[in-house]
Amino acid sequence: MSATTTANVRDADFLELDALVVGAGIAGLYSTYRLRALGLNILGVEAGDGVGGTWFWNRYPGCRCDVPTIEYSYSWDPELQQEWSFPESMSAQPDIEVYVNHVADRHDLRKHYRFGTRVTSAAYDEAAGKWTVRTDHGDEYRVKWCVMATGALSAPNFPAIPGLESYTGQLLHTGLWPQDGADLTGKRVGVIGTGSSGIQSIPQIAKQAASLTVFQRTPNYAMPVQATPTNPALEEFAKANYLELRKLQRSSKVGISGIAMGEDGVPSIGGGAVVDLTLFADAAVNQAARENFAENVRSRVNDPAIAEKLIPKDYPFGCKRLIAEIDYFETYNRPNVRLVDLREGAITAITPTGVRTEQGDFDVDVLVFATGFDAMTGPLTRMNITGRDGVTLAQKWSDGPQAYLGLISAGFPNLFLLTGPGSPSVLSNMVVSIEQHVEMVTEMIDYMHTNDVASIDAAPEAEEQWLDHVDEVARGTQYTDPTCNSWYLGSNIAGKARRMMPYLGGVNRYAEACQDAVSSDYQGFVLERASG
Ligand code: FAD
Repeated sequence: MSATTTANVRDADFLELDALVVGAGIAGLYSTYRLRALGLNILGVEAGDGVGGTWFWNRYPGCRCDVPTIEYSYSWDPELQQEWSFPESMSAQPDIEVYVNHVADRHDLRKHYRFGTRVTSAAYDEAAGKWTVRTDHGDEYRVKWCVMATGALSAPNFPAIPGLESYTGQLLHTGLWPQDGADLTGKRVGVIGTGSSGIQSIPQIAKQAASLTVFQRTPNYAMPVQATPTNPALEEFAKANYLELRKLQRSSKVGISGIAMGEDGVPSIGGGAVVDLTLFADAAVNQAARENFAENVRSRVNDPAIAEKLIPKDYPFGCKRLIAEIDYFETYNRPNVRLVDLREGAITAITPTGVRTEQGDFDVDVLVFATGFDAMTGPLTRMNITGRDGVTLAQKWSDGPQAYLGLISAGFPNLFLLTGPGSPSVLSNMVVSIEQHVEMVTEMIDYMHTNDVASIDAAPEAEEQWLDHVDEVARGTQYTDPTCNSWYLGSNIAGKARRMMPYLGGVNRYAEACQDAVSSDYQGFVLERASG
């Protein structure tokens, strides 16, 4: 059950490096590009067999970007943004993968990577001021700087359901979709989970499969969207105004400029196209949004009993990631689709032939786990990272993730976390947040390199203050409502500490906080000179 299929045979490396970049997604590639420009001895390591990260692994039918793709693109190659054309307004996975591959080739970034290679541990050697990083290929790297471009949504979550190993049909996870696809034609398919990946894939799977059984634990709020062919006038307008567009993205709260085609056919930028979701913290606004949503579902689903099951009744609108859906609710009008509401009887086991619930058994040929990710912390805590005094990151984060500005966790010097917990990350257009992080980290590394600084760490009190601030801005919003159980809070993972992980203060405010720290002589960080 993995998209890594190539037998990647090569000798193990034993290398001394300046910097190691883990991950070849949007963040890893840009990090590699920037660090190479500093003239450093760098290497990238990527578990997958290709570049793209999210857009390499998530090949499930229906996977697409939920922000306009013109906004979801790199800003640092001005010629590229003039040349490139995305075929659709909100591009599908294959088109984004093509784009990322193009960037990797255009800038000759692939040669820096070991693909099909997973980092299995990283340990800080305090005396040497270096990280020893090991991989599943037997490689050992001695590294000064580790850049963890490991993604916020790259550690797939499989709920611990008894009997999983006994299943004899085809088992898939949306986040580990086979590289060469999965033919579901004429099959009896079951999908467990109705979060983003479930809601994107269910309408597409229903069209292919003989029958589709959807196992829903929690209904979700989702907004209807349309993926239309790219409007040439809008694209032309974007190309003429990229400077402004990028500036607006970075000065906005969610990393979106608000470029849009007006109803009069005139494109505009910076208008009202961007909704600040914190407005749903207001009880009356939230109630109105819930009622609108319910009405919309009832108008689209023929069977009133099924419609009611698809409407969330016990948590606020916008407390989880708002899902962009295309024809999701209409899918339940199809004769080959059945909804199993797990609140009427939970899953008790996976059997050799399907799913056992308290409501009965459901046999399927293919079982799709659309159960998301151990978000934000999972890629890091699964990696066996050991910092100063033998403390592991997993131990340090057992009560919730802690990192100053979301960038460095105290006790783990020279280890940079890109789009990690405590930064805007998944609450923003991530390309914008990624670029800001990569640029800041490169600036920090450049500074250390040219000023002979041996290590940079977070000051524990600065880290604490930042965490208090992250908690403070989340307080009283729908995101932290006691009835809300989202992956932002870690609620989808059994035993994970409940904490609002992404920073709600906004991309703009966050970037200012970072810049303030750097320009005030690295306030909140602890720098050690090479001489000690
Ligand atoms: P990733 O793309 O996750 O790349 C991280 C890479 O690190 C992966 O390839 C992984 O294999 C590798 N890695 C991790 N651990 C290790 C290890 N131990 N050893 C070696 N390699 C490792 N964001 C938006 O802003 N808009 C959207 O519309 C949007 N849609 C999304 C749809 C889906 C289905 C998903 C899952 C995410 C979506 N996101 C979206 C978030 C998306 O993850 C980011 O936009 C962005 O692609 C993240 O890039 P990244 O490079 O930081 O991480």
